[in-house]
Amino acid sequence: MTRPGLLRMVLRGLLRRCPWCGGRGAFFTGWFTKATHCRSCGLRWRRGDVGFELGAAAVAAMITLGPLVLALAIGMAITWPDIAVVPMLAVLVPAAVLLPLAVYPVSYTLWQAFDLTMRPVEPDDFDIGAIVGEDLDEGAGPEP
Ligand SMILES: [Zn+2]
Repeated sequence: MTRPGLLRMVLRGLLRRCPWCGGRGAFFTGWFTKATHCRSCGLRWRRGDVGFELGAAAVAAMITLGPLVLALAIGMAITWPDIAVVPMLAVLVPAAVLLPLAVYPVSYTLWQAFDLTMRPVEPDDFDIGAIVGEDLDEGAGPEP
């Protein structure tokens, strides 16, 4: 069980894939709904850590506020000294509402990549039974 490199896991996280195995859409069954484990490798979200969502929220704040602050700074620099407040608010306020919704799943998979780098994976972190059960359910033929 070798850990993928940080860059590889971050890229997988940015693509909303499982940072560990690269499974596509492995954790999310919808944009906002997630499974308890990766549907490809069985890795659980929570690996004995109850504060996982806090890390994901911090990542969401960083990848949301960073572009907003940058856009605000560029807008102020371009329109200085007569700062175009209303046009900037017309663009940035909707962006401040929509951007967190757009990056929601990526914030989880990206945080998962950092979490996997900081805390080594243990065999108990995988829910192999759920994966095997899903495969059996999908492969099962019609009931006799
Ligand atoms: Zn996985």
